[in-house]
Amino acid sequence: MLIKQAEFVMSNTDYRKCPKPDKPEYAFIGRSNVGKSSLINKLTGRNSLAKVSSNPGKTQLINHFIINDSWYLVDLPGYGYAKTSKNNRHKWEAFVRSYLLNRENLYCVFVLIDSRHEPQHIDLDFIRFLGTNGIPMAFVFTKTDKLSKGKLIQNIDFYKAELLKEWEELPQIFLTSAVKGDGMEDVLNYINAINNSD
Ligand code: GDP
Repeated sequence: MLIKQAEFVMSNTDYRKCPKPDKPEYAFIGRSNVGKSSLINKLTGRNSLAKVSSNPGKTQLINHFIINDSWYLVDLPGYGYAKTSKNNRHKWEAFVRSYLLNRENLYCVFVLIDSRHEPQHIDLDFIRFLGTNGIPMAFVFTKTDKLSKGKLIQNIDFYKAELLKEWEELPQIFLTSAVKGDGMEDVLNYINAINNSD
């Protein structure tokens, strides 16, 4: 899919105030520092699109971008901020949960996972939350350029094996590098295929 247009629409904390749900929507989420902004910028070919969300006042918001006038890309707050107070974290969880559970045009949540690390509880908990609530998801392993091919395959196999202890089948998996551009076309083609399947 060619990205001809990618524009910031709005930020907020209430799914009811998000843009009218009349277009397919795809959300990106993961631990802070997983490479979410880099991935969004690389996917859209806009070097600073996700800067809107890395602006300090806006990091904890649901950020909508319109792509090719036909679908929404949503940058969700990263989870696992070490410095976030317990109180704040609960608020975060409440509005993100509410968005994920209620947004009717949400076609897929891309869960970003750092390919260098072993499965982390915080990611597995989040995946469990999506799975038990029937929210469609796909996994995007990030920063694959930081590993040798052998180590990458080993890590992904390990991750899959961990998940298969709990789940009968696995969602779509993408291996990406925002530095090298690997996997970007695959993610976009996946979105395109879903958009065209309606
Ligand atoms: P975010 O907090 O999830 O939005 O993460 P960022 O996109 O800001 O990335 C966090 C750090 O990881 C930055 O230093 C990026 O340059 C680096 N990074 C992100 N993606 C990649 C990647 O694909 N390869 C490499 N080598 N570094 C990456």
